[in-house]
Amino acid sequence: MPQLSTPSSAAELDRQVHRLYAVARSARTIAYILAHPQATGASVAHATARIPRALSAARRLLALPGVADHEETPYAISFLTAAKHQLNAPSTKLLRIAATARQAAARADDADDDLRVVVFQHIEERCRFLVEAAAVEPALGRRGWTAREHQASDALQEQAARWELTEDADDVPPTPPTVPAYLSQQAAERTATRARCAAGIRCTEPTCLAYGAVKVTYLVDSWLCADCIKAANTRLNAEGHAPDPVHPVPGGTPESGRYTVTLYNAIGKGARSVKCTTPQRAQFIAETVRPFNNTGYTIHATAPSPN
Ligand SMILES: [Zn+2]
Repeated sequence: MPQLSTPSSAAELDRQVHRLYAVARSARTIAYILAHPQATGASVAHATARIPRALSAARRLLALPGVADHEETPYAISFLTAAKHQLNAPSTKLLRIAATARQAAARADDADDDLRVVVFQHIEERCRFLVEAAAVEPALGRRGWTAREHQASDALQEQAARWELTEDADDVPPTPPTVPAYLSQQAAERTATRARCAAGIRCTEPTCLAYGAVKVTYLVDSWLCADCIKAANTRLNAEGHAPDPVHPVPGGTPESGRYTVTLYNAIGKGARSVKCTTPQRAQFIAETVRPFNNTGYTIHATAPSPN
């Protein structure tokens, strides 16, 4: 008697097909992560580990009697195929490179290596831009790359390999990477900004902007240099305020304080904050991190807690 004609075998088959479906749906959901241009290194690692596991689970289920021939199985397989394509797509390689480049840029920043910061940030940006344009998988609702974008992706992967940002970096001859002039220029500007910021936080008087300003009393959110403190007091005294209300906050600009730089969109919505431990770093972040086309900044200081 054929096994599948018994009610219990039919129920068992339904259960296996149902499981196959669940595995296929989860693979598709995870594959969406790899279509996302801002995917983090951790989520890309998660997705690239989970999809192969889902594919092997699906293979085991498909090997069970009757599952491969079930009428609903092709639909589940289409999800699995989409996930596999996404996993192996060049755009997934670009997301991995973007994550590695982001970490490498942070390390270069710690080492004050401005050329590498600029190059790695540029590589990350280009990778994410191409992932945004990509689309590997029509099933995930994205259009495909043009021939030009494919070429750009190949060139970017080669560039990343030369900077040792790819897993197969060892296969590439160690030619010293050449840097386009505009990136060298950006790196030189970054180095100059770093040098300027060594004097500390910038005076918030728009007509002054001298470095080395301090947190002051009376004028909330202001950082003023010695000259601007004098000028502010002269103005306030003339307006009939109590004598010299503006003076440096004692301990208000500690070398090892906690500084929060708020970077905001000057002409629209959005803001983001970066915490720093020195006034120099806070000013450097304020001048070099530009999350918006028109980024404005404020710097706040909190003295470290005594313990
Ligand atoms: Zn000033």
